[in-house]
Amino acid sequence: MTTVLLACGSQKSATPAIEDFTYSVDKFADIEILRYRVPDFESLSLKQKELIYYLNQAALEGRDILYDQNNKYNLAVRRTLESVYENYKGDRNSEQFGQLTTYLKRVWMGNGIHHHYSEDKFTPEFTKEFFAEAVKSLKAEELAAVLLPGETADDLIQQLTPVIFDPALYPKRTNQADGVDLILTSGNNYYGEGVTQPEVEAFYANMKDPNDSTPISYGLNSKLVKENGKLVEKTYKVGGLYTQAIERIVGWLEKAVTVAENDQQKEVIKSLISFYKTGDLNTYDEYSIKWVEDLNSQVDFVNGFTETYGDPLGMKASWESIVNFKNVEATKRTQTISANAQWFEDNSPIDPKFKKEKVKGVSAKVITAAILAGDCYPATPIGVNLPNANWIRAEHGSKSVTIENITEAYDQASLGNGFAEEFMWSDTERQRAKDFASITNNLHTDLHECLGHGSGKLLPGVDPDALKAYGSTIEEARADLFGLYYMADPKIVELGLLPDKEAYKAEYYQFIMNGLMTQLTRIQPGKNIEEAHMRNRQLIAAWVYEKGKADKVIEMKKRDGETFVVVNDYQKLRTLFGQLLAEIQRIRSTGDFEGGKKLVEAYAVKVDQTLHAEVLDRYKKLNLAPYRGFVNPVYSLVKDASGKITDVKISYDENYVDQHLRYSKEYSSLPTFN
Ligand code: ZN
Repeated sequence: MTTVLLACGSQKSATPAIEDFTYSVDKFADIEILRYRVPDFESLSLKQKELIYYLNQAALEGRDILYDQNNKYNLAVRRTLESVYENYKGDRNSEQFGQLTTYLKRVWMGNGIHHHYSEDKFTPEFTKEFFAEAVKSLKAEELAAVLLPGETADDLIQQLTPVIFDPALYPKRTNQADGVDLILTSGNNYYGEGVTQPEVEAFYANMKDPNDSTPISYGLNSKLVKENGKLVEKTYKVGGLYTQAIERIVGWLEKAVTVAENDQQKEVIKSLISFYKTGDLNTYDEYSIKWVEDLNSQVDFVNGFTETYGDPLGMKASWESIVNFKNVEATKRTQTISANAQWFEDNSPIDPKFKKEKVKGVSAKVITAAILAGDCYPATPIGVNLPNANWIRAEHGSKSVTIENITEAYDQASLGNGFAEEFMWSDTERQRAKDFASITNNLHTDLHECLGHGSGKLLPGVDPDALKAYGSTIEEARADLFGLYYMADPKIVELGLLPDKEAYKAEYYQFIMNGLMTQLTRIQPGKNIEEAHMRNRQLIAAWVYEKGKADKVIEMKKRDGETFVVVNDYQKLRTLFGQLLAEIQRIRSTGDFEGGKKLVEAYAVKVDQTLHAEVLDRYKKLNLAPYRGFVNPVYSLVKDASGKITDVKISYDENYVDQHLRYSKEYSSLPTFN
């Protein structure tokens, strides 16, 4: 017999239970704001908690960088509106003030004047006149953060009125439309005034050495501007562009070094510091390699200029940070996937010449996010796969994570909101979703991140950027299809990754329903699809629908005038996923720009206007928000009388508005114009 001793009367405050936790905290425009739990934070060691605390601080210090990257007026707009919100003495219950508040909440959600997802400029509901009156009512010191020396409130109003109210100025943050100059027509701030797309392409083509098998990530951490008619890079680094914020990030990282879990992690953080100090992209690659090879630390982080979705040419990276720690239990699932990576590669339905002979270093883990920041906040990804440099991935592998406390928040907030009742064809699909949607969704993310992005190879000499503006969509489609194809494989049940051989149908149905119909809830009437992940999902769904039409693999059925997706043959659907994966892999491996363009333009971009109108109408009746963002928990140091840190406390009580106003005070070191 074994005697189990229970730790009795534990005094530690535990994470609130799911049923006692309020996930939804705010709602405005098309947004719902959720809160997420950080389970097991209390069970970390004091040193680990302290490490997380410093990394969190380093994460929050980068917030303003992203605002400035997204548009050069973003900080001016945010700071002006925040001052109005905090200091306005007129009628705070008026409709106009309420509309200004909603606009400010949207600015926080988008990290600027553009929607975080559609990337369209927000249309304010308050008037120019109200804006002018409100700004003029403020005292000079209340505008100190925004006024340049010698500037008056009138100058500020004149400057910001077109930025906020003129729909023709900066209409899009990142323009992906075919046939125009993508740099000149994008509202973001990665390129200086008057810099054109051909100039940028020539500038970097000139830098790249086609025979370099370990190229740096050209242009990743700089703004390209024209000075005296010549193009120059202004590098984001200590002493360079954004130095005020980067110095503070470095300060917190230096504290983090002192409490690192082990020497390897210490080296990782030190080399990130050295990258921030030099701005040297070779140092960035050294850091990335050290980071991807650190698999033993429980605490981990992303901090820096990372993803390039915001640059229409996919070179310049937005600033982001996620601090996290390993979820040991759930990580076993992804370890099973990684352990079998070679089997998946060998059995994939792509042309053998595009397969990797040896899939290397696919590491995978499930993590618990402790803080979301920069381009991961308030809207956040549910999985991360880094680093992005192809040659580092090939030689050193990549780290792939699923953020399960975030998916938990999404799932819990969605239970019983009427969506499945409205859009799913029958109780069969609904029951399957109830039983398996959560687990298949997590598994699809795991397969997408752990195996999908890392699978396949480029043929020798193929430029990794050959697909240009279509690259992101094609790459996301490749990763999604890899996951979809394998979800239905008997091997998945054999490995214990799914409990039932029918379970995958839950993910298949939801994927097709989303790609053909329900993701249109995120698109404004009359608009096309722009965002890479949405394009990828419609591309896949529309392609398999068309190719399976003769066999009625998928049907769009009508009932009482409403359209539904019906999947008739799940096995044939799997075969179609495999066929499209083979074609997408060929395009990627050979750098077939024309082929990629044709696929994306034919399936991924255009929207069926009649169906769109119907979906929006049905969705509207449910009164749900199509997008979600998050508030972070608040961490505070507990010290004893001598000033020694004895604990790090976590609390879940800060609301959306208070959080942003506090961040704007505590973590706002950049000048309004940079
Ligand atoms: Zn992806």
